Amino acid sequence: MQTDVCIVGAGPVGGTLACRLAQAGFSVAIVDRVALSPMEHPAFDGRAYAIAAGSRRLLADAGLWPELEPASCPILDIRVSDGRVGQRASQLFLHFDHREADAAEPFGWMVEARALRVALNAALNAARGRLPGVHVFAPAEAAVVRNEDGATVHVAGGPAIECRLVVAAEGRNSPLRDQAGIAVTRMEYDQTGMVFAVAHSRPHHNLALEHFLPSGPFAQLPMAASADAEIGGADNVSAIVWTERRDMAARILALDDARLAREIARRLGPHLGTVRPVGRRWSYALSAMHAHRYTDTRLAVIGDAAHGIHPIAGQGLNLGFRDVIALADTLIDARTAGEDFGGAGVLARYQRARRGANLSMLAATDGLDRLFSSDNPALRTVRDIGISAVHRLPRLKRAFMRQAMGK
Ligand SMILES: Cc1cc2nc3c(=O)[nH]c(=O)nc-3n(C[C@H](O)[C@H](O)[C@H](O)COP(=O)(O)OP(=O)(O)OC[C@H]3O[C@@H](n4cnc5c(N)ncnc54)[C@H](O)[C@@H]3O)c2cc1C
Repeated sequence: MQTDVCIVGAGPVGGTLACRLAQAGFSVAIVDRVALSPMEHPAFDGRAYAIAAGSRRLLADAGLWPELEPASCPILDIRVSDGRVGQRASQLFLHFDHREADAAEPFGWMVEARALRVALNAALNAARGRLPGVHVFAPAEAAVVRNEDGATVHVAGGPAIECRLVVAAEGRNSPLRDQAGIAVTRMEYDQTGMVFAVAHSRPHHNLALEHFLPSGPFAQLPMAASADAEIGGADNVSAIVWTERRDMAARILALDDARLAREIARRLGPHLGTVRPVGRRWSYALSAMHAHRYTDTRLAVIGDAAHGIHPIAGQGLNLGFRDVIALADTLIDARTAGEDFGGAGVLARYQRARRGANLSMLAATDGLDRLFSSDNPALRTVRDIGISAVHRLPRLKRAFMRQAMGK
């Protein structure tokens, strides 16, 4: 079998790239070791992504946004504050109103992880009819042979696929990246990211809150009303992304719902009324990583296979989506110009477009975590000076807003 591109990993990044390239007329094979179909009607799982404006445009170009939009929740305001557990937030806080930004569009949209999964699976499974260029192999293992002239992907129990380019999108432990001998720098945080949803008695008014506490950031992100019977239906729902030191997180995750609700209220404050945790509680040992190269012979590495960052700014998937935009645009331009789109020169353009930008975001999120996850009085003063500086400098404030929107 022959295709233009073969993608290994049908997660949000690999799956979206497949849809985007197919929309642009490329023939694409995509292989995942996990079956896609059992995830089509997943239970309420309480995880959500903040999709920046740039990522939303990509999802529209990939034909996925119409399915996602009805269940998404626009973020219209962001409040960043600094404090201690159980105390009022510092008087100095930052309030970002989307109307102050250049285009007055929302900062982003909260989308349930399962909604993105359902939309992707539906698009990929229906691809044979709707997007004739897409071939899905899942569950299946792939063995890849690459050389200067092209690559062959041997799908276990399936065909040998000859292609011009292989894309590694298998997430943080990417076997294709490791087989290519691409080194990775890793940084461990002694922190756990806890992720779950809460239902609350008062509306969130589309406000996202990032509250910096000495043990790590605590974020509340507005979500659309849920009719899900599993959580008893709820008009007012938010996602919580809460970072704690590992030992403390283990104790928090073991609390019953009533005690967990009290701990949430101590960090959140009273603005959402009474709060009740709903759905499953997720936890992740936090670390950051970055691949030293994003390319090898006939290979491009994208998404979490290339980089992983602290979730402090909710930008991990958005970075992966920006890789998809850059790689798709580079391949489309190369094909239009009659170039070999899997060749080294074309892949070097993709790496130039993304590696520096991703490294800057990794450094920024790492720096923010170190600056804010500390009770050191000197660092608290630096934070307060920084917050009031951003308040006084509207251009700096707008620059932050553009960054949050993924522009
Ligand atoms: C606590 C936390 C909160 C987060 N919150 C946000 C947020 O609010 N906003 C945001 O933008 N990002 C967020 N992120 C980051 C986001 O979850 C990741 O960036 C995103 O899932 C990466 O997508 P991916 O497709 O690159 O990789 P993955 O989601 O890891 O998908 C990889 C795919 O490859 C498949 N695979 C693996 N190995 C193989 C193999 N050998 N062969 C074939 N297939 C294989 C897997 O089955 C899977 O389908 C958060 C992360 C954490 C830890």
